[in-house]
Amino acid sequence: MAEDRFHRKHWRVNWFIPELEHRKYAKAFREDADYSEDVSLFFGDLHKHTNLSPCARVNPYNQSPAESYAHARDVAKTDFLAVCDHAEYLTDEQWAECMALARAYTEPGRFVAWPSVEWATGLYGHRNLYYRDYDAPLISGRRVTTPPALWARLRELKTRALTIPHHPARQLAADLTRTDEELEPAYEIYSGWGNEEYYGAPLQDTDRSYTRNFAVDTLLRGFHMGFVGGGDGHPAPPADSGITGIYARDLTLESLWDALAQRRTIATTGAKILVDFHVNGFTLGSIIRFNQHETKDLFPLEIGVTVQGTAPLEKVEIVENGVTIHTKTKPRARLDQMAYTWYRNPHPLDNQLPLPLTNNVSRFIYVRVTQRDGHMAWTSPIWLDFYYDE
Ligand SMILES: [Zn+2]
Ligand SMILES: [Zn+2]
Repeated sequence: MAEDRFHRKHWRVNWFIPELEHRKYAKAFREDADYSEDVSLFFGDLHKHTNLSPCARVNPYNQSPAESYAHARDVAKTDFLAVCDHAEYLTDEQWAECMALARAYTEPGRFVAWPSVEWATGLYGHRNLYYRDYDAPLISGRRVTTPPALWARLRELKTRALTIPHHPARQLAADLTRTDEELEPAYEIYSGWGNEEYYGAPLQDTDRSYTRNFAVDTLLRGFHMGFVGGGDGHPAPPADSGITGIYARDLTLESLWDALAQRRTIATTGAKILVDFHVNGFTLGSIIRFNQHETKDLFPLEIGVTVQGTAPLEKVEIVENGVTIHTKTKPRARLDQMAYTWYRNPHPLDNQLPLPLTNNVSRFIYVRVTQRDGHMAWTSPIWLDFYYDE
């Protein structure tokens, strides 16, 4: 397909053979020039508590920060770990030690200890902060008391940090009436508190008193938030429940941070399920803006999905605005693999003039994977944002 504003070259991932399977008529090999970039998928837990969090200390099982890093690297075999202890309970000395320890455990190419912390208020819930370097300020919810004040503070300090709200659909819910387009790239869809994709979703927490603020509700507000997973493990080891996969150039803090900022993430329930997803060659996390004159260039959407599970796959679904629009249950020769291209046609009225109403629709599309062992994965969405061109 010709390169134009609405079609891009795929990226090359470091797993499986998506470049062949995405194409109906496979080319035997591809040139380097056939790819937009090379990326690798790195996994880690973005939300771990240690014995520096008072709530973790009451549990019989808890780890120090150093034990957490060693466990994430050597036992869970993950590529990165974000220790997010509660800022409100850390002293300046402890914070300095945390940052020094994170720096010491980071070995580019092998493991990244992400400088991070949890900011919490009673009224506006919890958000984690992910810094881009180890000279990071400790920002407490006791002194910076609202989400907009938090974003303003980060800008004032010129600190490069991203924020991610967590367990938004349960007790102590994060306030998601607002977000920050630049500083808040993701929503924690899965953690030790269960699946918060939508009310009634599989693996949802047993506390079902909250009926809104789920991921789909949040995205329907028009927010551009990708998906991440993290254990929020007070009593559990890292990567035990909820991990994030990040498509990055290499395993360094800077590359991971930049990729997170671009929403190049997938979330899983803890299994290292590999998922790749494109629309017209645009990578997961992309925002495609189009107007009524461009519908015919954008459609049909070429949706590419590739999955390498850790167990036999039950189904792979394409979800648009919270609704499943395509389900695939037939795997390839191997039960743990799926790779296919699916074309989404425009609405029959979309190419008619005068402008039909169906043009005026923004969409977010993502992929949901379910394995037969119950593990699940979600890609960050790709957005098709419509604007009316006068
Ligand atoms: Zn929290
Ligand atoms: Zn937490």
